[in-house]
Amino acid sequence: MIQRTTARIEARDPDIEGASWQSLLARSITDPSTLLQRLGLDSSLLGEGSRIGHAAFPVRVPEPWLARIRYGDPADPLLRQVLPLADEGEERPGFVTDPLQEADATAAPGLIRKYRSRALLMVTGQCAINCRYCFRRHFPYEDHRLTPRQRETVIDTLRASPEINEVIFSGGDPLAVNDHLLSQWASALSTVPSLTRLRIHSRLPVVIPQRVDDALLEWIGSTRLSVVMVVHVNHPREIDDQVCRAMARLRQAGATLLNQSVILKGVNDDPDTLQALSERLFDAGILPYYLHGFDPVAGAHHFDVNDQRARELVRQLQARLPGYLVPRLVREVPDRPGKTLLDVGMEEGGE
Ligand SMILES: *Cc1c(COP(=O)(O)O)cnc(C)c1O
Ligand code: SF4
Repeated sequence: MIQRTTARIEARDPDIEGASWQSLLARSITDPSTLLQRLGLDSSLLGEGSRIGHAAFPVRVPEPWLARIRYGDPADPLLRQVLPLADEGEERPGFVTDPLQEADATAAPGLIRKYRSRALLMVTGQCAINCRYCFRRHFPYEDHRLTPRQRETVIDTLRASPEINEVIFSGGDPLAVNDHLLSQWASALSTVPSLTRLRIHSRLPVVIPQRVDDALLEWIGSTRLSVVMVVHVNHPREIDDQVCRAMARLRQAGATLLNQSVILKGVNDDPDTLQALSERLFDAGILPYYLHGFDPVAGAHHFDVNDQRARELVRQLQARLPGYLVPRLVREVPDRPGKTLLDVGMEEGGE
């Protein structure tokens, strides 16, 4: 049985508000039992499969994320994203370690060329939070981590590839790296004439909004490249006031803000949540961009939402929201030059 505490206790740690992102990152919870204990939940939620999952892809939950989880609620959608359930130990046919077959697309160490005009730069393998459904949870980051000496090779490769006009800082979470290194990358990239945009795919400004500090805003605001920040929010409650303030500062520095989500069972697989998510994103100055169909990654089958259900949900969104708040339902298909749009069709009549 799961124990619920009736007393209203906050999981919030009073020291997090003014802390630096580096200290918050370092103080993250990395133990499943501690995570449950902090939320007043019983460790019977964990099973043998949780231990297997945690060993393969360790728990990592920073305090500002923990503070947004409802105390005593084992089904909380923010908790579900980070807690290794016993389901992780079950093997399912079709659920594999590299569903996107990224291992084959390396152009130079750290540089992945899956698309004609954009190149992915794997800045780091580290993340601020380990999302249980991550399609890169089995990714061999050690093979891709960039050393400063490899930077020159990457820049040379980009100079020799004028069809690439956008570099995407990817990972892991590229903002887990310090701003000194990131600003060096931004300067080096700005010397490549064909590059016009720098995209940053990061969950950190949402997970630890303190990440949006002066040092980050300084290089984002001063590069000649247009900066596009794609954050990753799956549930409206991930966006609290502090996240809103961080987003406002990023916009002031000139960044365009977009969001990608993953459709996840038990987190956002209903029309009310998805609608609230789009509205909340807009309030925070972020436009919904992609809603990813679920990728069958080993250990995450309990998040699976089939494409037919995902299409139905997006159809419902189309009937409820202006077009600019409806994310594109997509799937990454290995060897295709871009995302594959899942055709959702139209809702008949109104709701
Ligand atoms: C799809 C994808 C991209 C490229 O996104 P586009 O907006 O289609 O250019 C980059 N990184 C990851 C992880 C992706 O899934
Ligand atoms: S932040 Fe992104 S890359 Fe990191 S674990 Fe979560 S989904 Fe995966």
